[in-house]
This record gives sequence, structure tokens and C-alpha cells, in this order.
Amino acid sequence: MQTSLPEALRSTRKGQRAEAILRSCVHCGFCNATCPTYRLLGDELDGPRGRIYLIKEMLEQEQVDEVAVTHLDRCLTCRACETTCPSGVAYGELLEIGRDYIHKQHRRDWFDAMRRSWLTRVVPVPGRFKRWVALGTLMKPLLSRRLRGQIPTLGRRRNSSPDEQPSSNNFTRKVLLLDGCVQRVTTPEVNEALETLLAARQVEVVRLPEEGCCGGLSLHLGNEVEARETIRKNLALVAGLIDEVEAIISTASGCGVTLKDYDRLLGDDDVDAALAGLFVKKVRDVGEYLWELGGDWHKRQDIHRVALHIPCTLQHGQRCGGYPMKLLDDAGYELVDVADADLCCGSAGTYSILQPDLAEELGTRKVAALMKDEPDVIATANVGCHAHIGSLATTPVLHWVTLLTLETAGSEA
Ligand code: SF4
Ligand code: SF4
Repeated sequence: MQTSLPEALRSTRKGQRAEAILRSCVHCGFCNATCPTYRLLGDELDGPRGRIYLIKEMLEQEQVDEVAVTHLDRCLTCRACETTCPSGVAYGELLEIGRDYIHKQHRRDWFDAMRRSWLTRVVPVPGRFKRWVALGTLMKPLLSRRLRGQIPTLGRRRNSSPDEQPSSNNFTRKVLLLDGCVQRVTTPEVNEALETLLAARQVEVVRLPEEGCCGGLSLHLGNEVEARETIRKNLALVAGLIDEVEAIISTASGCGVTLKDYDRLLGDDDVDAALAGLFVKKVRDVGEYLWELGGDWHKRQDIHRVALHIPCTLQHGQRCGGYPMKLLDDAGYELVDVADADLCCGSAGTYSILQPDLAEELGTRKVAALMKDEPDVIATANVGCHAHIGSLATTPVLHWVTLLTLETAGSEA
């Protein structure tokens, strides 16, 4: 694709990346076939190729119009188009550049601005988010069906007393387990289950009590400056630990995809670039880490058939969606076939709040595909998918890690 970006933009790192990415697209349109919004809406501008044109026009003309905002807002950031693209177009990075441009140049209407401000101020701060979820839960009977579905369930910690904490005096390895912001509030049992599994394999788990968001939320909202501030804060928190731990693990693939990108997001010239490089080398999705760790895991005796939903952030973003499948299969579960497994469920970070109609339609289709073969449970690997699918499915939804146990006798981890 030919480009003529303004000279001022081309002289920046971001402008050069935008130009390189735009030029790598040969506008073949293969990507449209796997784009959930194109398949749903059938509009060229709601597919990746159309959105690439919109970003090109916006950057070249130095103007943001409502058409571009509408169609870029409708993008899920699922990156299925990247997996399909034969030319290796880094669509996700280009979208980030486009959204950052909109964030800086465009004034949103008051309602949209208010929702985005609420998301930025409440969700990344676990204490605040917890209070809002508690309030929303109290008000549920007064809310519409859709709003009720958007309120996640407050999670409960299982290991309530120090006596119940996993312990071992013969740890041979050490990892940092990141709790994130939303997962800490809604599904804390996931990391507790993992900690128990790891302790049994002599892996010591350390946590960061002060940790909040990974920065992914700001990125979803197009606020790159805020995302970088969050990244620097997180790097400062882990700086003293980084040499001590063999891996930095996340069980939420939506966080993992951002954590693995800290070096690119900060850039080579950032003061924290070297630290970000060390950090990224150690980040592992939980599936990757458990696979590398090796050894046998077992299945629960009360669950046999599992419909596995691999989040887009794991299959298209991190490109390591095969590990949960292999680990559950080895543990003895029957994994049922799921149609259109490469398509997004509609959760997509803040998408289910900002684009509720499309999110619900995608979620309903996904749930129908997951439940078709009547599995005992639906398993996934990201807190957002967990909540979104859980709000629409009648089959129980859980994180796949909680399906692994230590014993064949059926003790539940
Ligand atoms: S992004 Fe890739 S698949 Fe899509 S039009 Fe461009 S080159 Fe083709
Ligand atoms: S990221 Fe997903 S929704 Fe957005 S253009 Fe690509 S395939 Fe379509």
C-alpha cells in the first residue's frame, strides 16, 4: 500500500512504524474472512482492510472524522486478522497508533467520555472496583437484563487463614505470580489454585500486594501515555525481584498479552527499556509455564467433558493457545469440538461495556458453539471471557487451571 504521511509524523518513531505497517498491507482482503465484526456486519469498514484504510486516511489528512471513530471503536482488538494475514501486517500495533491519535485529537460525546473516564478511574484500582461490583450486585434487581449481565460476581478467597496457605520448606524454584486488577476481585480462586499446584511441585510463589492494572485497560481506551505510566510503575514494583524469580506468570491472558509487550510499548529509548527487556523475557502465560515445568496433572473426578474457549489474547495475541489444550488432554479430559474456535466471544477488554450490542451478539453465538455438545463445563483462560461467557451460558464457566489436580484420587485443587 502506498502512503504519504505528513513529514512531521514520519520523523517520529510512531510515524515510521505506522508507515512500515501500512506499506506491508497488500489489500488482499484475506483477513476479512476471520474478522468477527466483518462477519457480523458485512461492512468493509468493519473489517481489518477497511480499518487499515481509515487509519491511513486519518494519519495522512491529519483529521479525525466520526466514520473512522465509529469503525475503529467497533474493532475488538482480537487480532484474528493478524493470524490470517499472509503478509504479516501488525494490525494490532497500527490500531494502537490509530486509537492513540483519536484519543489525542478527538472530543467524544459526554456519555462516551463519562463511560471511558469511569473505566479508567475505577476498574484498574482493585479496592474501588470491588466496591462498585458490591454496589452493582446489591442493585441487580433494579437493573435491566443487559446491565445485570455486565456486573461480574465478587470472588471469594479460599485460603482464608495462614494455616491454609500452601507451604513447603523445600522450594527449589521461585516465580512471581501477577494478580492483575479485575481477576483479583472477581476470580481470586484461580491464582490460589495455581499456587497450591505449584507448591506441590516445590515452586515458591511470590505476589505483589500493591499491584494493579497491567496497562492493558488504558491501551484499550487508546490512552498510550497512561499505559506507559502504568508500565513504569509496575516495572518499579518488580525491579527488586526480577533476578530472584525464574518466571513472571499471569493466569489472565488479557494481561499476559500486554505484559509480553512492555518492551515494545516503552520503546528502545525509554529510561526503563533495559528493565522492560528483562521483564518480558521472564513473562509466561500459565499454560506455557506448566508445560515447561512438566510432570503429571490429573483430572477432577466430577468433570469429564470440557468445552475449551481459548481467548483471542492467547491464540492470536500470545500465540500459545495450544498449551491449555495439551495439558487438559494429558490430564484425561475429553475436549469437545467447538465451531469457530478462532472467533472472539465479544468480551475483548472494555468492549462489552462500550459496544454492548455487538458484544452480546458475539457472546450469544460463542456460547451456542461452546454448549452445543453439552459439555460438563466451559473452560477459558481470561477473566474477561470468563465473566462475559458466564453471563450468557447456562453451563458453568471456570478457568482451565482450576481443572487440574494433584491426585488421581479426585481431590480438587
Ligand atoms: S492486512 Fe493482510 S490479509 Fe488483510 S488486506 Fe492487508 S495484507 Fe491482506
Ligand atoms: S482485531 Fe479482530 S475485530 Fe479488529 S479488525 Fe482484526 S479481526 Fe476484526
